[in-house]
Amino acid sequence: MQFINKYQNRKKGHRIIKSFIKEHWDDDCQKYVNLDYDELKRCKKFQHLLLNEQQGYCCYCMRKIPPTDVTLEHVIPRNLGGDDEKKKKEFKYYMQFGYLKPRRIYYSPQIPASLKLHTPPYPHSIAYENLVASCNGRIYDGGSKCQLHACCNNFRGNEKIIPLFFLPRISQIVQYEKDGALTYDEEKYGASIDLLNLRHPTLFFIRKIWASIVTKDINMSQVKSALEDEKIRQNIIDDLDIPRADENKLKLDMYWKLFLEFHWFYYYFTNKSGK
Ligand SMILES: [Zn+2]
Repeated sequence: MQFINKYQNRKKGHRIIKSFIKEHWDDDCQKYVNLDYDELKRCKKFQHLLLNEQQGYCCYCMRKIPPTDVTLEHVIPRNLGGDDEKKKKEFKYYMQFGYLKPRRIYYSPQIPASLKLHTPPYPHSIAYENLVASCNGRIYDGGSKCQLHACCNNFRGNEKIIPLFFLPRISQIVQYEKDGALTYDEEKYGASIDLLNLRHPTLFFIRKIWASIVTKDINMSQVKSALEDEKIRQNIIDDLDIPRADENKLKLDMYWKLFLEFHWFYYYFTNKSGK
């Protein structure tokens, strides 16, 4: 996982949110019209900003997010709101992470219609500091039925988690092993990892294959060209020395494409092995 720094782009982030808010102000009615998160998630400029600050990778699973499949993830769930003390308490809990500070963000899932919002703090449903980019959480599971499983924000829903990407030491806190497993302090982070489904067998498998690619000194351009070139792919698969069932998965174009989207692990295992 990688640390997401919401400080360096904050001015750009606020500028985009401000102009988005301004666009929805109706001077005749003196209120906002259609100013809500559903409108914001269609804002390409905002999506690009979040993707760039994450180098294009999902905040949870490190998949390269296809530009057409960007999902905006609310760190503090959008459904928190109202007078419920429990919900207010949960909002406060998130204030210890990243730049989720009262001067930048406040508790409000609905955006007040008549209040003119010129400067931060902004409601948590549209605040820049509360939004990160995530994959759509769907992964091809192999087999003839093309099953899809859920991970990342698709799996989390509105559950309370530790936003791991806001921990500056996250690259040491969560590590990946050659067999595809994750290592971390189970007591502290286990519940969050489970709520994101990052221990799903498909993710295990993909990480394991990347580790093996690095061990066997297969380079990135070979792996990329194997998407189009079946012969290269077969050579790579033979080199990997894996069970037949796993070989069959990798022979599928759809699976190889998915595998390539996790190329972050190539660089991860290359660094880890000191190559
Ligand atoms: Zn993901």
